[in-house]
Amino acid sequence: MLLDDEQIALLAHCRRILADGAGSLPPLNAEPVTLELRNVLERTAVRLQDNFPYGHPFYLGQMLRPPHPVALLAAMLAMTVNPNNHAYDGGRATSKMEVDAVSRLAEMFGWKKHLGHLCSGGTVANFEALWVARELASGMGIAASEQAHYTHARLSRVLQVPFYEVPCDTQGRMNLAVLEDLLQNNRIGTVVATLGTTGLGAVDPLDELVRLRSRYSFRLHVDAAYGGYFTLIDELPSRTRNAFQALSAADSIVVDPHKHGLQPYGCGCVLFQDRSVASVYHHSSPYTYFTSEDLHLGEISLECSRAGAAAAALWATLELFPLTRTGRFAADLANCRQAAVQFADWIRRHQAWQLVVEPELDIVVWMFRSKTSSTASRAARRFFEKAERESLHLALFKADRSLVEPLDTIETWDDETVTCLRACLLKPEHLEWMPELCRRLQAVLENDSDSSGITTFP
Ligand SMILES: *Cc1c(COP(=O)(O)O)cnc(C)c1O
Repeated sequence: MLLDDEQIALLAHCRRILADGAGSLPPLNAEPVTLELRNVLERTAVRLQDNFPYGHPFYLGQMLRPPHPVALLAAMLAMTVNPNNHAYDGGRATSKMEVDAVSRLAEMFGWKKHLGHLCSGGTVANFEALWVARELASGMGIAASEQAHYTHARLSRVLQVPFYEVPCDTQGRMNLAVLEDLLQNNRIGTVVATLGTTGLGAVDPLDELVRLRSRYSFRLHVDAAYGGYFTLIDELPSRTRNAFQALSAADSIVVDPHKHGLQPYGCGCVLFQDRSVASVYHHSSPYTYFTSEDLHLGEISLECSRAGAAAAALWATLELFPLTRTGRFAADLANCRQAAVQFADWIRRHQAWQLVVEPELDIVVWMFRSKTSSTASRAARRFFEKAERESLHLALFKADRSLVEPLDTIETWDDETVTCLRACLLKPEHLEWMPELCRRLQAVLENDSDSSGITTFP
């Protein structure tokens, strides 16, 4: 449960403060709490019981980090006003909070000036960045790695822009030699670098891409929906850190505060370094923009209505957890990273297992060694199901032969893909729970008749 009674009481207290500023209009009657309302809400609570334990450290399945109570409380407080951040007309206070919060995200990436705003998530944020890129260089293609988020290929189709999938190296990073061949043919207008791929947590070599850009001109968009906040921490492999240190040279960046930024869903962010891209958004509206001469957020975003509550939540979170390299937020992120390092070390000590790539952030992907690719896949699926029965929620990752073959763990490729196991260690609590997690996974492995070569967590 993300909120307790004390926190709900704090919400009631702050709602009264908010109400004190409501002005002098004649009061309206509140909607009464009828028996019917109570009944429907009780049934809603029962329906909502059917969920995985997303906030618990035993949940390692998908990239889920629970929102912080400050974000939930601020969002709910704002929802009692229901502001719309399309314009100052509909969301005066929360538009200012959004401008403030977005500036802090831009500063985290080393940008002193920027154009940007919040949106519903990484997909829409990437869509805007790719749309702006298309408007600035029409007819040119978009290149992203084969490990990039699946939506880049789809969004390119929506935008009717040719999409080029660049193969990866053995670590799941974009292969720059292949990219360079494409660039020589002069078909690419935009390169998407992923800083933290969704599947493997791999980080494309952004620093090298920046150098390539000085030889071939292209727009450099960074999809850091999942990984962006890792720019705050030092405890990363040096190649990974070099990529993050190059972020300030990107043309546009996407980061999802609802992934690692402690926000409830409905909070992505797109940032452009060059403010003049605002001209791409130009439209006129006969309905809004009467209350302020400042640029309204709706004049620089693709969507019209957006929840002001998301901005209030992010603003409050950044007040409590400033984006500094030395604060608690960065320390928590470093704990996630440390949990992944420990987990990978533990995987490495098992004869039966093989890491698919060296983890760069806080996602770990590993596989069973086996004679054939199909038996390796079956072993992974069986382990996944057995772990699930012990309340340990993992995920699966389907790896192409090209990624796994260099590892020499499979003798015969009867299937062209192999199913691997994947753990997302996005909660700082994973670190203190790591011995217990490994103990329980060990028990699952020992119950698995086909496994051998087992060691235990120290
Ligand atoms: C999650 C993710 C996305 C999609 O973001 P949503 O918020 O789910 O729409 C895009 N790119 C990467 C790298 C991601 O991890």
